Amino acid sequence: MDLGISRIPEYRKKKYAHLAKYYLQPVLMILAVSIPLLMLDKVSYQIFWFCLLLLLTCLEAVIPARPKWQETFNDKLMVLGLVWIASAVGDLVKSLLGMSLFTWLETIRDTYGLGIWPSDWPMIAQILLVFISYELVNYWYHRGSHSWTWLWKASGHGTHHAFKSLTAINTMANHPFESLFLLLPRIIVGVLLGGEQVGIAAGSLFTVTVFMAHTNLDLNSKIIGWLFTTNRYHIHHHSMVREESNTNYGCACIMWDRVFGTFNDADTKEVGIGKTQPSFTELMLMPFEEPKSSEVAPSGPVVKASAN
Ligand SMILES: [Zn+2]
Repeated sequence: MDLGISRIPEYRKKKYAHLAKYYLQPVLMILAVSIPLLMLDKVSYQIFWFCLLLLLTCLEAVIPARPKWQETFNDKLMVLGLVWIASAVGDLVKSLLGMSLFTWLETIRDTYGLGIWPSDWPMIAQILLVFISYELVNYWYHRGSHSWTWLWKASGHGTHHAFKSLTAINTMANHPFESLFLLLPRIIVGVLLGGEQVGIAAGSLFTVTVFMAHTNLDLNSKIIGWLFTTNRYHIHHHSMVREESNTNYGCACIMWDRVFGTFNDADTKEVGIGKTQPSFTELMLMPFEEPKSSEVAPSGPVVKASAN
């Protein structure tokens, strides 16, 4: 489906690509932090995220960084199917476990006096603190899932890595089992430390950054990439080569990789867990049976990066 994209002159595409490379991520991050402060209702907030994903998907169609990653309609449908199932399970987990976990952690916080949140700090400093704290918990969960076979399987993390191309929509293409694991750090940090007032803004900053980390656009990594994850770093984490995949665990905050020695700034040849992309059924069964072609799993064969 061309949708008139081929009629856009090359000089105009180059201009869009330049603007996107240097301005898209910073502008969207500022917008993501500002929008929650407008106190939008839930529906307006969801419309905002839908428009953002639509914008990224259109840009990926017009100025893709890797044209061969442009998915067919069937590929997109498979990703969207997985996103829909994972979101439905995520919502169910939130409604079943969210409130009881929330109450339990609040009790622990009040009993042991853990409510140490610096609520007198400027708003932006608090937002960054929630963001960095959340990503610290997430970093160790993510690193653990690549180190221990039981966690790789229990979370179904391999499903997220299985795709042979990445786009913004792939951000949410996780196995339904992973919904719980992704929810826990958010609740632990938000409730235990007591910073829930700025949690929504920090959550928005996290969400927009992980969308950018998966998008098929040519984005700048200089300066912004000191603290935040850019797609160059995250695509390397999705590498088909296990020693490359075992780097850059920070999905939104790359600082922890720099601190704990897992940061790697390098080109990526191919993504996925192996040479072929598993079928939808194989993706859903990954916690129980790893596809034979899988090279990225902790228990997979050691495959070294080639020199070229
Ligand atoms: Zn991973």
